[in-house]
Amino acid sequence: MQNPPVHRHAPAIEAIPLVLDSPHSGEDYPADFDHAPPRVEVRRAEDTHVARLYRSAPRYGATLLEATFPRSYIDPNRSLADVDPDLLADAWGEPLAPSRKTAQGIGLVWRIARNGVPMYARKLASAEVRARIERCWQPYHDALAAELDARHRAFGAVWHIDCHSMPAVGDANADDPGRTRADFVLGDRDGTTCDAAFTRTVAEALQGMGYGVAVNDPYKGVELVRKHGRPAEKRHSLQIEVNRRLYMDERTLVPNDGYAALERDLERLLAEVALFVRRSLG
Ligand SMILES: [Zn+2]
Repeated sequence: MQNPPVHRHAPAIEAIPLVLDSPHSGEDYPADFDHAPPRVEVRRAEDTHVARLYRSAPRYGATLLEATFPRSYIDPNRSLADVDPDLLADAWGEPLAPSRKTAQGIGLVWRIARNGVPMYARKLASAEVRARIERCWQPYHDALAAELDARHRAFGAVWHIDCHSMPAVGDANADDPGRTRADFVLGDRDGTTCDAAFTRTVAEALQGMGYGVAVNDPYKGVELVRKHGRPAEKRHSLQIEVNRRLYMDERTLVPNDGYAALERDLERLLAEVALFVRRSLG
């Protein structure tokens, strides 16, 4: 891999305790990925352009972390226990707890591509998966934890937005196959990963710009908000899924006519969230 696994966009003004991360927008495909389907099909797993869409974040004092590796290679938004034993040529050697995501073929290392075909023409050695964890997953988790901890130490509270994008319609390996999605889906794991005021602030800001917003349906938030969201400790984590139809052609991944307007609206959202964070600090 050419790039480090995580790229950090530092605050351009005095930092506020607001951290964004984009775990699924990486486009730097490692030479040892060895996926079977054509790259164009594998790339449909990406949340393409998401880190770029939020690039105004540093101007509001926020930090933006972005993964440079593709989520189909190893997914930072899954736990290390979410390994699919069917992928492996040998035993993992530690207890596994595969989630429903693994059953759907999209666990820590994806078994199938978005078009439903197998991602690999062979079994992977468990050492290959461990190397991906060491080179990509662990550095990403370490960087995000360090950023959140540093802000929490300095301010006594931290707000975290885990940034994603979703297909316009649920596909075969989703929880809602065939269903048309809202413009945005906010996930706070049924109110457990942040104070309700944070979710409400984001929802109302987006609704005020004319967007349709769903909460915890069909996406509740996965590993990153689960791991970092502890509102009793003033650690607030919220997942935001933006509908890909708002900004790109889902087959070619090329930005569409809506891209510029969405980028501008996300900047307005960040301005409102930054205000909310400053007010919450008192
Ligand atoms: Zn995502």
